[in-house]
Amino acid sequence: MFELNEKIRDLTPYDPITGTYTVRLDANESFLSLPDDVRQELGKIASSLDYRRYPDPLAKDVCAAFGAYYGVDPACVAGGNGSDELISILMNAFLQPGDAVITALPDFSMYGFYAHLAGGREVSVQKDDSLRFPTDAVIETAKRENARMIVFSNPCNPTGQGLPKNDVRRLLQAVPETLVVLDEAYMDFWDESMLPEATKYDNLLILRTCSKAFGGAAVRLGFVVGPERLVRAVRAVKSPYNLNSFTQAAGTVLLSRRDAEKAAIETIKASTHALHEALCRLAEAYPVLEKVYDTCCNFVLIRTGAADTLHRGLLQKGIAVRRFPGYLRITAGSEEENQAVTAALQELLAADTEKEGQA
Ligand SMILES: *Cc1c(COP(=O)(O)O)cnc(C)c1O
Repeated sequence: MFELNEKIRDLTPYDPITGTYTVRLDANESFLSLPDDVRQELGKIASSLDYRRYPDPLAKDVCAAFGAYYGVDPACVAGGNGSDELISILMNAFLQPGDAVITALPDFSMYGFYAHLAGGREVSVQKDDSLRFPTDAVIETAKRENARMIVFSNPCNPTGQGLPKNDVRRLLQAVPETLVVLDEAYMDFWDESMLPEATKYDNLLILRTCSKAFGGAAVRLGFVVGPERLVRAVRAVKSPYNLNSFTQAAGTVLLSRRDAEKAAIETIKASTHALHEALCRLAEAYPVLEKVYDTCCNFVLIRTGAADTLHRGLLQKGIAVRRFPGYLRITAGSEEENQAVTAALQELLAADTEKEGQA
């Protein structure tokens, strides 16, 4: 019998929630649909593609559109089938078996997953109750472990916390022989991006995505930005046709509408602010919501001992949010969706309080 090897034997396929929910606030997607004229443009692209031909392996047009949007040299940009694929490519490209990869937890779970598959060894630092990025502990750990890579999201999913540029610079300078992978998936919602300095450091790679602020998760488009020497290595390692022709053309459209995008970002930020306020009011009334964290992203994290019960109760009401042990993460939605999730939470909390009163 063919035996699965040790590193994959216990893995199970990624299981996003299944079933139908009327309110989906579990995956940090944008709640804004693409505007009609953009959808029409995408329709035209889909109907006029030359489907016989392989896509451009260097994805030149969409990398140029990315470069124009963010003001970076396209020679320092490579595209991926979502930034998720790029995380996998970076691990496979830059790690050798046994290399230490430093993470600070909680953070995006795919880092450890891909590091493991690439034969790396995840060494994680635990964040304290503030959930802020522990820069000094990460530097110390990286030095002690002679780390090949440090990877973290900034601002962070799932904590919502942001690390100011000055701390990122300090980290980069403290570990000149370690590659720092800075995942800025949510940086469109904050303003401490290292993109303007992306090529100043020879140990920095920045990841961006069209899945969150751009509302294009279905398109699967992410980017890695850094010094040419490293980006060339990424291009050499990735599979040549990782970005299909539709994604390349659609991404070029998404990245060419600066004004509409800026407006969408402001709308999402306003929704996040409203959701945060509403959850803070709930937490004042129901102390089982122990802490509602500030956020630099399009979601709000709550620390609560009732995470499991509330998560289950919300699902029963047709509302999906993300649960972690001891935490709930709620993506900002439309006014109606925010209203629905806060009302449902209130109902669950009130019912629970009543039960306690009777006991
Ligand atoms: C959503 C997310 C991604 C994945 O983005 P894709 O481009 O859709 O693969 C990467 N990093 C973080 C931190 C995310 O939250």
